[in-house]
Amino acid sequence: MTATPSDDRKYRHQRERLVETLRERGIHDERVLSAVGAVARHAFVDPALRDRAYADEALPIGLNQTISQPFTVAYQTALLGVQPDDRILEVGTGSGFQAAVLCEMGARVYSIERHDDLLRRARSVLDGLGYDVRTRHGDGTRGWPAFAPYDGIVVTAGAPEMPAPLLHQLREPSGEDDGPGGRLVIPIGGREGQTMTRVRRTGSGPHDYEQKEFHSFRFVPLVDEDEGGG
Ligand code: SAH
Repeated sequence: MTATPSDDRKYRHQRERLVETLRERGIHDERVLSAVGAVARHAFVDPALRDRAYADEALPIGLNQTISQPFTVAYQTALLGVQPDDRILEVGTGSGFQAAVLCEMGARVYSIERHDDLLRRARSVLDGLGYDVRTRHGDGTRGWPAFAPYDGIVVTAGAPEMPAPLLHQLREPSGEDDGPGGRLVIPIGGREGQTMTRVRRTGSGPHDYEQKEFHSFRFVPLVDEDEGGG
């Protein structure tokens, strides 16, 4: 990657404007806004699309997948309620941009992607920018039990239904220091649109979950292993 100082200035200015756009569109969490404003999104997109990297839009990253719209990334990150040192699992690494934003929030980030070539590309960008993300190639609907429980799980593809393993990998609230239970943020619905849904773990029992629904979005589909395709 070759970036000149004037590029840096140009992109920094564009990033500041993007943050203002996100604020106008209803993102008010200052920690989220500064995290999004700190990530060099142009590094996560194809060089031919760099001039659009700081517009508030999704862009193609190959294999029919997209880097999510910055608004969507900010929205999901805000719903997750990320605290520094939280352990966060992302399903759908894609370009790696959302993972970088989570790193900027101070989280310990784990991310799973089913397309190996996207994952490799994301890895090299994340490594190049110094983001420490643990990644895995595979089906994220099963979660990543080795590092569970998670304080937060964010699914960045549209899920036809709630993947049960993800619920089981959320942290139980801890009585003693009153630590909050883990949160899962996931768009649920068919290909035409999904409802952003947040589930919080409220206890250790099988029914100790609280679910809340938010706005509608349109994501690329979450594809589990049995479905194949894509
Ligand atoms: N978070 C990404 C958005 C990528 S789009 C970013 O910031 O760029 C969603 C991604 O989810 C795609 O790359 C797609 O390949 C991936 N995906 C879809 N189903 C998946 C699954 N079951 N497991 C892991 N990744 C999946």
